[in-house]
Amino acid sequence: MDFELTEEQQDIKNAAKEFAEGEFDLEYARKCDEEHIYPRELVRKAAKEGFVAIQFPEEYGGQGVGMLDKCLVGEQFAIVDSTLTLPTLASDFGSEQIWLFGTDEQKEKYLPKIAAGESISCGMYTEPDAGSDAASYKTTAEKDGDDYVINGTKTFITNALQADVGAIAVITDEEAPKFSNMSVIWIDDLQEHEGIKISDLGRKMGINSTSTCEIAFDNCRVPQSNLVGEEGMGFLQMMQFFDTTRVPVGAMSVGMAQGAYEKALAYSKERKVFGMPVAKFEVTMFKLAEIATKIEAARNLVYKAAWKIDNGTPDAALSSMAKWYGAKVGVDVCDEAIQIHGGYGYMADYDVERWYRNAKIQEIYEGTKEIEKYTIAREIIGRIK
Ligand SMILES: Cc1cc2nc3c(=O)[nH]c(=O)nc-3n(C[C@H](O)[C@H](O)[C@H](O)COP(=O)(O)OP(=O)(O)OC[C@H]3O[C@@H](n4cnc5c(N)ncnc54)[C@H](O)[C@@H]3O)c2cc1C
Repeated sequence: MDFELTEEQQDIKNAAKEFAEGEFDLEYARKCDEEHIYPRELVRKAAKEGFVAIQFPEEYGGQGVGMLDKCLVGEQFAIVDSTLTLPTLASDFGSEQIWLFGTDEQKEKYLPKIAAGESISCGMYTEPDAGSDAASYKTTAEKDGDDYVINGTKTFITNALQADVGAIAVITDEEAPKFSNMSVIWIDDLQEHEGIKISDLGRKMGINSTSTCEIAFDNCRVPQSNLVGEEGMGFLQMMQFFDTTRVPVGAMSVGMAQGAYEKALAYSKERKVFGMPVAKFEVTMFKLAEIATKIEAARNLVYKAAWKIDNGTPDAALSSMAKWYGAKVGVDVCDEAIQIHGGYGYMADYDVERWYRNAKIQEIYEGTKEIEKYTIAREIIGRIK
């Protein structure tokens, strides 16, 4: 048992902190939030420094490190700014399908560009009538000549306005039973692809520096060589994909919680009410103690889940715990940080309301908190005869 980060992990953590403190400009973050700007240049810079797709092997442009390292980066970025973290950390979203299940040829072709920040990726799973119930997707891919022909609609797709490439989950065998009828296909040239229409879904609560879009596929042709993994194994691949990607989501939440907590702590020491700092009221002391404890607990869950992945023993329940509890702590702490700031917390100038708006989505995407609890409960209870 060793709770210390390795020297390399500590270096990555320090480098991520230094990068975020140097490059995440507060005014720019507020502008991205208000004007829905995708920070394209920042993504390039983060990639140049090796923070994008850090988990990919070095031969494919990554740093050859693990998910724990990705979590450290996500956490450090989110402590500094909750708006600028997601676009930088998730510019590789979806490409984990290739990293985990792709051929060497696919890895060589796509991963280095994504890791270099030259190419943005997205993951196209959710459909208008099927989010949590992923086995009910209806988008199909039929074989025709050397191609798949894709028809259907995906929705809520992060990065879609900027994405060059992405992974889509589709039904490839309508006759096959549920769970073995689905495949994952890689799509190139998303913005110029014939048969693809991308529409921005408009205003949303937070994460406004990323686009959230509907993507309609109308006889969209993709070469059959773009199949990722095995035909019919798409559902299983998707579940394994989420077991991996959910953990950095938990890490981002821990970072947001830590950032909001630090703001609340500083404010509570400065703000005087009834002649004394807010931090001196026992109620505030207890709040701060609870917040610090929850963050520490969530952080340890995230690190352990990531460590299990890196050691070849991924644990679906633990990954779900890390994401569910991390996201819950993120939302709870941001809420309490607003409260500790009083009326000022509700106003944009103090940023904690922005933190709160950014934290909330973490309880919804990549599996809602209810679905995370199902995953945990299934592992705990097992099959009942
Ligand atoms: C900003 C944003 C970005 C997103 N980015 C992406 C992306 O990049 N790619 C992508 O594919 N998707 C993305 N999503 C979609 C997201 O993953 C889904 O919204 C989420 O999985 C929930 O699906 P749904 O919205 O259809 O809700 P539903 O599945 O309709 O669920 C509605 C409610 O019912 C609950 N519920 C569902 N099933 C059960 C059950 N069995 N028992 C108890 N409660 C249940 C849910 O937890 C939820 O509270 C994004 C969503 C948003 C809002």
